[in-house]
Amino acid sequence: MTLIQKILRTLITAICLFLVVPASAVDKDGNFVLVIDPGHGGKDPGAVNGKNQEKTINLNVALKMGKLIEDNCKNVKVIYTRKTDVFVELYKRADIANKAGADMFISVHTNSAKNKSANGAETYLLGVEENRASANLNVALEENKAILFENDYETHYEGYDPNSPESMIIFEFMQSEYQKESLKMATFNQNQMVKSAKRPDRGVHQAGYLVLWKSAMPSILIELGFISNDAECKYLVSQKGVDEMGQSLYKAFCEYLDYHNKQLDKAVPTSQAIGNEDTDKSESLPVYKVQFMSLKNPLKSNDKRLKAYSNVSYFKESGVCKYTCGDTTDYDAILKTKAEVQKKYKDAFVIAFYKGKKISVKEAREIEAKNK
Ligand SMILES: [Zn+2]
Repeated sequence: MTLIQKILRTLITAICLFLVVPASAVDKDGNFVLVIDPGHGGKDPGAVNGKNQEKTINLNVALKMGKLIEDNCKNVKVIYTRKTDVFVELYKRADIANKAGADMFISVHTNSAKNKSANGAETYLLGVEENRASANLNVALEENKAILFENDYETHYEGYDPNSPESMIIFEFMQSEYQKESLKMATFNQNQMVKSAKRPDRGVHQAGYLVLWKSAMPSILIELGFISNDAECKYLVSQKGVDEMGQSLYKAFCEYLDYHNKQLDKAVPTSQAIGNEDTDKSESLPVYKVQFMSLKNPLKSNDKRLKAYSNVSYFKESGVCKYTCGDTTDYDAILKTKAEVQKKYKDAFVIAFYKGKKISVKEAREIEAKNK
């Protein structure tokens, strides 16, 4: 194939893959799901310096971070792509995150360079950065070479050639809907590595990482430091280094979680949205709905439960997302809806809103009577 044909085929594949969204992208208990991905493992040591191997540094720091989150963050479920020294294909790492309906994917790596004096920490999100392209390209190319340890990488990364910088073009279209959140997480992470672990600052950048490519959620890749720099390597393999790096990653995640929860609180509650379609009706008459489910976090837009009934929406109350269906000023009609919903959600019940505020059904019935 000519280069043009190759690029076209790659682009089409990339776009198709991009459109594949996980079927059930939510934790049933409403937890924030974090996937931690310690880079390399097993037969793939990653970068090395003497007897020191990248895979070990990545795993130690990732486990430290995960332990702190599990011990201190309520409503966060931590999933690892590996917890031991085993080999996991890059595409499987994204698979694990997609299947878990993860809210964040964090890949932990350690850098390496020919120039032994290069040092410092950096954080990446997926994409192509114009001004710094070649430096990022080399880091990403190195990390992506992990697929050379896979038996049949051609079938899983169609169009991507780990030895060809040209194939990096597939990532140009990957600056996705998750970019804003990925950048937030990357920035928190970079600041903490500099502030809390006192690492030299190499900044936040974008590059084409295969491991982030197919993850359908905000995602970052961390380069903790340079294993090729003797002083930095010594730090990263020490207990002090592991503790400090793990702690800085943990602190950054807490900041992101805080940001994430605040974004949720800003989501427009249904009660405020009522009346958009028929202002007069909702001004004078209460609106009835059936509440059938409460969750800590809103469902993803592709969740099947959103389509199970008509007019499914949610409002936030005491930090919980309460899901409703039906939307009517007719009390008899809502009782029928309730009976229908109770076939599946037996605790479903009727609630009422009036002028954008939730009121008791009794109050709503009284207002209705006055308006007759
Ligand atoms: Zn790596």
